[in-house]
Amino acid sequence: MAESKKMTLTTKVLIGMGLGIAVGLFINLLGLNGEGSLINEYVVNGFFHIAGKMFVTALKMLVVPLVFFSLITGVLGIGDVNSLGKVGAKSFALYMLTTAIAIALAIAIAVVSGIGEGVNMTSTAVFTAKEAPALSAVFIDIIPSNIVNAMALGKMLQIIFFSILVGISILMVGKKAEPAVKLIEIGNEIMMKMVNIVMAVAPYAVFALLAKAISNLGLGLLADLAGYVMVLIFALLVHLFVTLMTVLKVFSGMSPSIFLKKMRETQIFAFSTSSSNATIPVTLRAVTDRLGVNNSVASFTVPFGATINMDGTAIMQGVATVFIANVYGVDLGITGYLTVILMSVLASIGTAGVPGVGLIMLSMVFAQVGLPVEGIGLILGVDRILDMVRTAVNVSGDAVVSVIVAKSEGKLDTSIFNNPDAGKLTDDDLDIDDAVEHDIADMVKKTHDKV
Ligand code: ASP
Repeated sequence: MAESKKMTLTTKVLIGMGLGIAVGLFINLLGLNGEGSLINEYVVNGFFHIAGKMFVTALKMLVVPLVFFSLITGVLGIGDVNSLGKVGAKSFALYMLTTAIAIALAIAIAVVSGIGEGVNMTSTAVFTAKEAPALSAVFIDIIPSNIVNAMALGKMLQIIFFSILVGISILMVGKKAEPAVKLIEIGNEIMMKMVNIVMAVAPYAVFALLAKAISNLGLGLLADLAGYVMVLIFALLVHLFVTLMTVLKVFSGMSPSIFLKKMRETQIFAFSTSSSNATIPVTLRAVTDRLGVNNSVASFTVPFGATINMDGTAIMQGVATVFIANVYGVDLGITGYLTVILMSVLASIGTAGVPGVGLIMLSMVFAQVGLPVEGIGLILGVDRILDMVRTAVNVSGDAVVSVIVAKSEGKLDTSIFNNPDAGKLTDDDLDIDDAVEHDIADMVKKTHDKV
């Protein structure tokens, strides 16, 4: 018993992931998930679906208030408003740069591997492209006309814009705004505690999410598209372990192996939820508490990155473009590929990190270079699992840039980064101190008696 109490959350989440994949494979391979079967109805689409969905919804519930409070706290804690501009410019440049490298690398790997050449495939699914936002609208849209609406719809760039403005205005009001500073700081602390509470159930939720996703997966389809899947996963791994880790080492001097170890849990969350946005609370916690990035940087770079930085998604676009161009026998030429790089980078700015958004971006890219958008139907069936892998790469990119920007601004606590135990979540973190509980009850009682 004492043993299990000491088990860290990462270990539990890893176990949840392993068991989820095993159970999912078991159900899938034995064909227990057929339409109308009891397992399908009550276990996969019943229990697993409900448990997984509740967890992802709980994570999403945290995002808006967490970003709001932590970003204002960040602006207040930065100590020099001018450096806010520097943090913004540096992170924007690095996000765009890493995305461009990601897609260039993906195109190179895919072209060399020759995937899709000589393949004669007919589309198995019909893909209808959803409307993607025009770039001009993206810029205009940064400013919310109604902040309540922006929060209700979870419009991240608008929430970021408004929160920064609130922070700056509090600074301008000065001494008089002290109670607001306290309120916001405490709000931030309360939200971070709430993240811990939600994360405590993560091992079970990760199990349910993965068991459901894997049992529903068309494993046969994976085999049909083995070339595409393998090249894509290879490119994702090269980008994560080689490109991003080199960028981390060169620009910040920090250890890639410590970084990867501390990001494992966040990557599993991203993998299980397929959503960088829903993973924001977990990424923010990992980047601040485990990697030592000061909240004044992380509170901006993490939600900003979840919205505009998608290295994994860009890689999918590069590989998919080459694959489908080859299947249809279209020669894109160097100009075509350069357009693809530019388009993907631009498309990533306007689209939020939510499941499946990569396909919408891909349709924008295809339309631009004249590839048939129906071609996306070819890869639709395997996209669910690939979305999981690329989302894990997306959040890793956000964290790498956060560490680099923080280091360059003197806002990285290297002792936290290098301490293997920093920020580890154990069961003890969820205890409520009895004395505190009684004190607060007394306080409430006294206030009531007074009234
Ligand atoms: N699911 C990805 C994310 O949230 C986006 C995508 O590639 O579809 O980062």
